Amino acid sequence: MSDDIFADSTTFKDLGLRDSVLKGVEELGFEKPTDIQAQLIPPILTGRDVIGQAKTGTGKTAAFGLPLLHMCDKDTSMQALVLTPTRELAAQVAVELDDLGKHTPIKTTCIIGGESMQSQKKSVQRGGHIIVGTPGRVMDMHGRKQIHFNDLRFAVLDEVDRMLDIGFRDDIRKILKLVKREHQTIFVSATIDEEIERLARSHMKSDAQKIVTVSGSLTVSLVDQKHLPVEPWDKKQLLLHLLKHQEPETTVVFCRTKATVDKLTKYLKDKGVDARAIHGDMPQPKRKRVMSSMRSGKLDVLIASDLAARGLDIAHISHVINYDLPEDPEVYVHRIGRTARAGRRGTAWSFVTPEEGQRLTEIEKLTGVLIEQLEYDGFKPGPVPKDIAEQRAAAPSKSDPDKHLAKRTGVPWHDGMSEEDLKAMFPDGNIPKTAPKQTLGSRLRTRRSR
Ligand code: AMP
Repeated sequence: MSDDIFADSTTFKDLGLRDSVLKGVEELGFEKPTDIQAQLIPPILTGRDVIGQAKTGTGKTAAFGLPLLHMCDKDTSMQALVLTPTRELAAQVAVELDDLGKHTPIKTTCIIGGESMQSQKKSVQRGGHIIVGTPGRVMDMHGRKQIHFNDLRFAVLDEVDRMLDIGFRDDIRKILKLVKREHQTIFVSATIDEEIERLARSHMKSDAQKIVTVSGSLTVSLVDQKHLPVEPWDKKQLLLHLLKHQEPETTVVFCRTKATVDKLTKYLKDKGVDARAIHGDMPQPKRKRVMSSMRSGKLDVLIASDLAARGLDIAHISHVINYDLPEDPEVYVHRIGRTARAGRRGTAWSFVTPEEGQRLTEIEKLTGVLIEQLEYDGFKPGPVPKDIAEQRAAAPSKSDPDKHLAKRTGVPWHDGMSEEDLKAMFPDGNIPKTAPKQTLGSRLRTRRSR
């Protein structure tokens, strides 16, 4: 697969954007459109509803933002609504639209929780043509009649799969129901499965077009993806070892819970690592401060919950470390997408405990990438903690991960794959004894016996 995310033969001018918009594009240093921009912008400009799927970091924001800047009319406020799952992403999208629209009369307002509603209201009143926000604050301000959707012509859901999953679905439905006039919908993400597409289409016109620029694998091939087998009790020390000895530059470490984020940050700080935490329970001013030190390059290590998994675009993030594997394989795609953005290179390492082999296999199946083991030296695993050793002695078959692994040793590499997947890979029915290179399977199960 080509690493090139750019459209070869198209220019921004070819896409039919007005000069004031092109000037902003040029000033940001965008020389040519990315594939998703080349493919999404023309149908949006014709007024069509679109669902766009493209890999992380390949310019989806400008793909929906540039046509909005082109089409909004300068005399009407609140014409476009862009919803994102997190405050950080909303703020980032608003800044990018402001930058791109610098030479147009179109203004963007960011409406997010944790910040003054009064100043957001004023900003809309001063002519916010495009509102970028999170669902909670948008509903709140609509309920207080501080914003209205009477003139809304464009509704955009960024990270649409997250916006239509169970946590946000009802809010989105309510917000979109409030838009009474006919409007164009634009939904984008790096991961859109059939169920999400079906839900998305229920909010769109019947001729909505789906545009997919993801081919081969869901992740950007410029990310070097590796996994590291580790026992749960060794994770902290292994992370410290990697940070000290492998010397990654700017790193985001993802944990599954907020409590782990806090504990791990404290541990690393105590060991002299310049690490800061970010998660949803932190007050907004603190979240903002952490994000701005990350953006300005003052922070080496960010320990994050999945709050930071989606959309955030920080050019110099060189490494993503999955301290805990995510439960949902699609979250993996978004997390590692924090690196290797806009055609740069990046590294993603994932810690995998003995019980998590299947989870890693599921990630490999979804992404279409074989995630090899990282070779590193100098790390000595600690002893089995006393309570776990006792548990194992009492119920060896259940709690001893080594036994668990031993049981898996020798299973065929394709064990765990569905018949359908196997048929698709080997239509003639001849399944090789060993896993073919660059294909997927539960090869890890046999490889991981230590
Ligand atoms: P996004 O996927 O929208 O977050 O964009 C990822 C990064 O690529 C951002 O830093 C954008 O400013 C940048 N970008 C978007 N489109 C282009 C382009 N056509 N040329 C160069 N950089 C771009």
